[in-house]
Amino acid sequence: MDNIIQDIDILDKNSQEVTDTVLTSKEENTGKKKKLYIESYGCQMNFADSEIVSSIMKDNGYDTTSKFEQADVIFLNTCSIREKAELTVRKRLTDFNKIKKRKPELTIGVLGCMAERLKDKLLEEEKLVDLVVGPDAYRDLPTLVGSAEEGLKAINTLLSREETYADISPVRLNSNGVNAFISIMRGCDNMCSFCVVPFTRGRERSRDPHSIVREAQDLFDQGYREVTLLGQNVDSYKWSPEENNKAWLEKKEKQGETEVVINFANLIEMVAKVSPDLRVRFSTSHPKDITNEVLHTIKKYENICNYIHLPAQSGNSRVLELMNRTYTREWYINRVDAIREILGSECGISSDMIAGFCSETEEEHQDTLSLMDYVKFDFSYMFFYSERPGTLAAKKYEDDIPLAVKKRRLQEIIDKQRKYSFERNKLDLNKVHKVLVEGTSKRSEEHLSGRSTANKVVIFPKKNFKKGDYVNVFVDDCTTATLLGNSVD
Ligand code: SAM
Ligand code: SF4
Repeated sequence: MDNIIQDIDILDKNSQEVTDTVLTSKEENTGKKKKLYIESYGCQMNFADSEIVSSIMKDNGYDTTSKFEQADVIFLNTCSIREKAELTVRKRLTDFNKIKKRKPELTIGVLGCMAERLKDKLLEEEKLVDLVVGPDAYRDLPTLVGSAEEGLKAINTLLSREETYADISPVRLNSNGVNAFISIMRGCDNMCSFCVVPFTRGRERSRDPHSIVREAQDLFDQGYREVTLLGQNVDSYKWSPEENNKAWLEKKEKQGETEVVINFANLIEMVAKVSPDLRVRFSTSHPKDITNEVLHTIKKYENICNYIHLPAQSGNSRVLELMNRTYTREWYINRVDAIREILGSECGISSDMIAGFCSETEEEHQDTLSLMDYVKFDFSYMFFYSERPGTLAAKKYEDDIPLAVKKRRLQEIIDKQRKYSFERNKLDLNKVHKVLVEGTSKRSEEHLSGRSTANKVVIFPKKNFKKGDYVNVFVDDCTTATLLGNSVD
């Protein structure tokens, strides 16, 4: 069992931060003439976008490949959230230099947040790049690739107020056939002062709920058993037949010009009704917007998972105000209390934390640690503050916490989180958990890996179970990252 435990620890022990995932396209041969290789960085929204990009390219004559050496077109779908994310992409681009020299007809495109942030500067700075395309311009990709093939540099970084790609059926790229992501909204209208997203992804808009339910139903019919609904701030999902742009919709609502409004609680209920055997997850919830109506809807449906990713960022009200998060420590605690009251203590709660934001004092950092003591998060994504050009914080505040202090504070946050992840996992011992099997364990072919409703990874002996099965597992051991047990069915 010890070997398995090491294998599935998700925190990179050599790193100060949670491991960054990079996803690459898989091999698909449907007889198309050309090959697309796509590599995706950053958040799940980006991974979902790459599936939309692949679908658009598939309709225009491209199969995907897992080997960039065999590609006619290489796309990097990029992230700008922290400086490190951009440096990783820049370094990766140098790997393609050699192949581009050998194969000058190869088209290399940078998509996503970095494309949006840097625009034509990226074409000037990275000579091998042919295309720069922002997140709202993917429908234009075939035309832009056409221009690049004629030797022209091509760019489209226009942001849209309505685009949701609702009609596009994503090509599932890294799928295990059990879990899939569904984008339910795009952009963000919050202006957290540290964050580049409102600048790279534009205004908030919600996708037609009927197209979301259709996608969930299609996935279920294909054998998928879990969907994760994605948005930067899912609780602010709002759609009416007349309007999908949040700001415009709220104006219409005030003027009494729209009657049918679907909110996030309505949406998760609609998706949950696709089938009781389809698990529904969502991310990310915003503490200022999560409502009791949403919590009661989670409670009402067994297949809506008991797990909420509710990023706190800091445990100190002054820092939260500087971050423009629009809630206080007390408000955050009130929301956690509501989750515990309505959904019980077993509901999984995770967070994002930023260490060393501008002017954060030692006492204020201690407030973050004491918030962690109060909530006992099951899991956290933890970062030190990285100033991003153009954000409100970059304009208004000095990035004055020395790197060594940021790193030390982050380490304290990580250490505390490890303690509580372990403590929370121990509460799951000697209980039966309903696990959705996602595949075999990385270390042992004889064991299966799946997740409980609270999003905990559970490992157990395979027997005759397979991917996509629901299995009742009695958990009798755990690590900081994993529950271990045996099936009782
Ligand atoms: N929309 C989500 C929310 O509000 O919680 C989060 C989106 S962001 C893609 C993911 C996380 O990256 C944030 O929650 C924050 O903790 C972290 N992050 C964003 N900007 C950052 C920055 N400038 N420095 C360090 N971490 C940052
Ligand atoms: Fe960034 Fe804040 Fe929007 Fe999240 S809610 S994407 S942190 S601006």
